[in-house]
Amino acid sequence: MLRENLQEVEEKIQSACRRAGRNRSEVTLVAVSKTKPAATLQEAYDLGVRVFGENKVQEIREKYQVLPKDIEWHMIGHLQTNKVKYIVDKVRLIHSVDSLRLAEVIEKEAEKQDRIVDILLEVNVAEEESKFGLKTAEVLPLAEKLTALSHIRLRGLMTIAPFVENPEKNRAIFANLHKLYVDIKEKNIDNGTVSILSMGMTNDYEVAIEEGATMVRVGTGIFGARDYSI
Ligand SMILES: *Cc1c(COP(=O)(O)O)cnc(C)c1O
Repeated sequence: MLRENLQEVEEKIQSACRRAGRNRSEVTLVAVSKTKPAATLQEAYDLGVRVFGENKVQEIREKYQVLPKDIEWHMIGHLQTNKVKYIVDKVRLIHSVDSLRLAEVIEKEAEKQDRIVDILLEVNVAEEESKFGLKTAEVLPLAEKLTALSHIRLRGLMTIAPFVENPEKNRAIFANLHKLYVDIKEKNIDNGTVSILSMGMTNDYEVAIEEGATMVRVGTGIFGARDYSI
């Protein structure tokens, strides 16, 4: 099942790249493994997956302990400031920075642990009440402030688009975030380290790739439906 799912996702990524005239190597697949047991992640690992996305600090800590050390862990969920210290040494990328306060806590912890942490700014492009993330207009001012934090490296932007039946409905959102991403790249904030645009989930990653995503976060499409009751 996992093998077939991975193959199907891979084929869809490739055809979206082809449609957009992009190279497959421009798009990183993050396998979103939240709620799935470590044994399932190990199975995906054995099939070649190395990049996993999780949205809970506790889950990252537990899985990090028992799974191979060459896994690249991505924190994709809302991050509470009091939990930052548990993951700065474990994650390759934090997708969900949405305030200066959180960035400052990451900076402080990274300095303490003598490392540099790669982050994305999470943007609530659709300005949905229920979601975390910066408003579009807040992104550039915050990006500029981050340049003062020497243990944080701004790598790009992330968004969680609304859940829609028809992924075409999210195309404008992806296009808008891409535009903002290009603006930030052109301003050369943080010495050209901005090169990641994380957008697109199971339901809409092909459209996201067509609109310029360099990272897609796919959970259900790889691992099947999640069971939150356990
Ligand atoms: C759960 C989650 C995903 C994956 O969602 P699917 O629809 O299962 O692909 C992607 N990004 C974030 C931030 C998530 O929390």
